[in-house]
Amino acid sequence: MLNPTAARQLISMQGERVRWFQALPCDCRDPGDPDYGDERTCTKCEHGYVYREQELEDGVKALVTRQRREYLHPEVGMIRVQDLTVTTMADELPVDEFDKLVLVERAVSKKEIVRRGSGTSDVLGEAYPVEVVTVADGDTVFVAGEDFVFDESEGAVVWLADGDRPDGQTYAVHYTHAPVYWYTGAMMTEARPMPGHGAKWPQTGILNSKFPEG
Ligand SMILES: [Zn+2]
Repeated sequence: MLNPTAARQLISMQGERVRWFQALPCDCRDPGDPDYGDERTCTKCEHGYVYREQELEDGVKALVTRQRREYLHPEVGMIRVQDLTVTTMADELPVDEFDKLVLVERAVSKKEIVRRGSGTSDVLGEAYPVEVVTVADGDTVFVAGEDFVFDESEGAVVWLADGDRPDGQTYAVHYTHAPVYWYTGAMMTEARPMPGHGAKWPQTGILNSKFPEG
């Protein structure tokens, strides 16, 4: 990448849309506590981090490429070849260590039996559903916008007040869901200011398909 302007153009043309969940250390983490560590029973966080989704401006993308080499990360050990790298512009998507990126354009199909709950919505089994294709039971194919709506941030089918609902305790949902990756830091190139320019270089780091533990 020759310069920030070219990098921004490349990311915009060849990048993909993502959802970004920022990691903040949870208040259950207390380095002064002798029990601090793996024995946490906190339900607010994952691995000591609370994740909050960050809104991205329209059109913001991340350039995701397959990582083919191995190398040693000082904290999490060897990063393996099947991992991905991601490049973003730091002013658009300042992804940081242990953040999650959901690759919504890489969603795969799933058909699931969903149990009708007592409330107005039913959460789908996968953490990051992207699109609901079909909702049906043996008798009825339900109509999006009339019988139900899909809530992406909740990952749920929400039943509407005036629409039809399943008769039985279960129904079928055909939907797509996206893989989630953990960002393990900008060990390749840090976002840094260009001499004489206000613009910054893009930042590149590794995406792991599992939470990176040492
Ligand atoms: Zn916690």
